[in-house]
Amino acid sequence: MWNTNNTSPDLEKGNVDIAILPVGAIEQHDSHLPLGTDWMEADAIGKGIARDIDAYLLPSLPFSNSEAHADFCGTVSLKHETLALVIEDLVTCLFTQGFKKVVIVNTHGGNTILKIVVRKLNTSRTDGKVILITPGTPPINDLHEIFPDLDNDLHGGDYETSLMLAIDESIVGKERHDHVPPGKSAEYFDYLPMSSISKTGVWGRSSLASREKGEKALPIVIKRYIEYIHDTFSQIENVKHQG
Ligand SMILES: [Zn+2]
Repeated sequence: MWNTNNTSPDLEKGNVDIAILPVGAIEQHDSHLPLGTDWMEADAIGKGIARDIDAYLLPSLPFSNSEAHADFCGTVSLKHETLALVIEDLVTCLFTQGFKKVVIVNTHGGNTILKIVVRKLNTSRTDGKVILITPGTPPINDLHEIFPDLDNDLHGGDYETSLMLAIDESIVGKERHDHVPPGKSAEYFDYLPMSSISKTGVWGRSSLASREKGEKALPIVIKRYIEYIHDTFSQIENVKHQG
């Protein structure tokens, strides 16, 4: 694995052609999880992927679009447009230097703009391809065995709390709140701020979380993402060769 501890000549000699850019967020996660939860998740998942595929791992971007959580203390957010420009700039640097493949590993569902940025970069640039991994894409069916109510577990619930217990148990609080807003699904983040959906800021059942579940889930997530990266780039390659 390569990262920013390496020198520029190291990286050049290594002939690395794939880079991983993890994207997290700094936003409230109720009273039991730290503000940096998504950032730490992006870091852990990015590291797991980069180790296995010998990629250049960039530091995780801590800031992204957390507007839905803006009225909770400590949340900081970039506008969608700002985030788009940041990602565009970083990926463009990598393409220009010869990285043919870039993977954005996003752990925050609110970063809906990333899909558009990726499409824009892939249609406007011919020197590389960028793909996006984001909550729900690719789907990870095995996770439903560990978290049966995963579809209603959107923020700070069973999945995220378990993952954080596996990453660093010492920063996860013991007091847990469960809240699944009746009749609402993820698109309500497009309509309402989190504070009016859930007073504590949780959407899911954090009381069900355990370190064991997180330790089981994390390698599954990393493995599935690696498969997706290999599959997707080889499909893109095949199309290029046929063309
Ligand atoms: Zn989160």
